[in-house]
Amino acid sequence: MSGPDFDADVIIAGAGMAGATLALSLHRAGLKPLLIDPVVFDAQLAPSFDGRSSAIAYAAFRQWRALGLGEALEPHAQRIEQILVTDGRTPGAAGGGPTPFFLRFDSAEIADRSEGEPLGYLLENRHTRTALAGAVLEAGIEVLAPARVVSAAFEARGASVTLADGRTLTAPLVVGAEGRSSPIRAAAGIGTLGWDYRQTGVVATVRMERPHGGVAHEYFLPGGPFAILPLTGNRASLVWTESTARAAALIAARPEIFQAHLERRFGDFLGDVALEGPVFSYPLSLQLAERFTAPRVALLGDAAHGVHPIAGQGLNLGLKGAAALAEVLVEALRLGEDIGSEVVLERYAAWRRFDTVTLSAGMDLFVRLFSNDNPLLRLARGVGMSAVNRIAPARTFFMQEAGGAVGQLPRLLRGEAL
Ligand SMILES: Cc1cc2nc3c(=O)[nH]c(=O)nc-3n(C[C@H](O)[C@H](O)[C@H](O)COP(=O)(O)OP(=O)(O)OC[C@H]3O[C@@H](n4cnc5c(N)ncnc54)[C@H](O)[C@@H]3O)c2cc1C
Repeated sequence: MSGPDFDADVIIAGAGMAGATLALSLHRAGLKPLLIDPVVFDAQLAPSFDGRSSAIAYAAFRQWRALGLGEALEPHAQRIEQILVTDGRTPGAAGGGPTPFFLRFDSAEIADRSEGEPLGYLLENRHTRTALAGAVLEAGIEVLAPARVVSAAFEARGASVTLADGRTLTAPLVVGAEGRSSPIRAAAGIGTLGWDYRQTGVVATVRMERPHGGVAHEYFLPGGPFAILPLTGNRASLVWTESTARAAALIAARPEIFQAHLERRFGDFLGDVALEGPVFSYPLSLQLAERFTAPRVALLGDAAHGVHPIAGQGLNLGLKGAAALAEVLVEALRLGEDIGSEVVLERYAAWRRFDTVTLSAGMDLFVRLFSNDNPLLRLARGVGMSAVNRIAPARTFFMQEAGGAVGQLPRLLRGEAL
């Protein structure tokens, strides 16, 4: 469709995990996407670039398989078989055993509906980025990098994007997938809502002495949640949330002091634990775009919704968004519609709005309810958790939500081609 007048069918600002997934989906369906990013792929793959690992819902993982990434990702994907959630002043391991209030999710309970899939997969972002970059380059998708989008203009017949070096590119549709500070969102006049949690996520990878058995642990502590997320090779990714001041002290601590804090927090239930690689930190906030679309613009990933990592849903939301947007655009093309028109883009916004807003609000409530040492709140949430734990359908609902298999699923999330 990219006529002689346009540089591409869809210009995607931001070649992060959401933007690259969208580009691959569109390319596979015969469209011509163009990716723009200030960071070249090689730099995105450096060990110091992104130390996070992501819990990926099994439905989102199916989407990557459908895009041909299965072979590259599977050796690095750790199945999450169980999730244990504990509400305690200190983690069970460090505080002399878990409190009686805990939730236990087990993949065996949903095996009939999930076709034997686990609750999700844990993948280091660097491996996902490597697989996506390899697939994008192999597909011959045009990538302008390093190149920074600084502004955009949206007109009746098309959109134009201006780069920092003065170049201008045009397409019927521009997707802002450049993360939280999205210049495309600003150029479209779309505001944001949200707040700072005054918390920082300290992220580190550790190697344990005893097998983790595919179990993910989440401890709710007054400073914020502490998650131990199983990785391949009997390692784990820690997401250690603390108030901003405490996190700064932790990051600045000498290695032996950090190790002492780590052992105190982690305990010895998995034997000795040793830090592997650098420690990373991420300030945490909620940021929701007021709208996901405007004429000739769609927002995707963190540019549309930046959420707290408490339930590991941020990237999953972005991947669901990529699947939904690709499906809407491909259908519109089949019907001969203008893919940048308001009527087409509204289908994407309507599809993703409800899910995104309810999930973001739910996670925000969780953060407020659990990052708190008020004794009444502690009692109430303990009662709530043990009630959910006793009711099998409630547990099943949460597991399917975590697996990303609820609501009207885009075709790619069902593992089907577009
Ligand atoms: C501690 C922590 C743990 C997390 N754990 C999980 C988890 O377990 N599961 C999960 O689903 N999510 C998790 N998340 C959330 C997840 O990491 C993010 O939602 C996800 O990385 C967002 O991807 P994105 O592609 O939308 O944006 P980004 O990763 O921010 O990518 C944006 C891209 O745009 C580029 N860019 C920036 N400016 C410009 C510009 N001007 N022009 C062009 N390009 C530009 C950037 O270089 C970058 O490549 C976690 C987040 C944190 C902080």
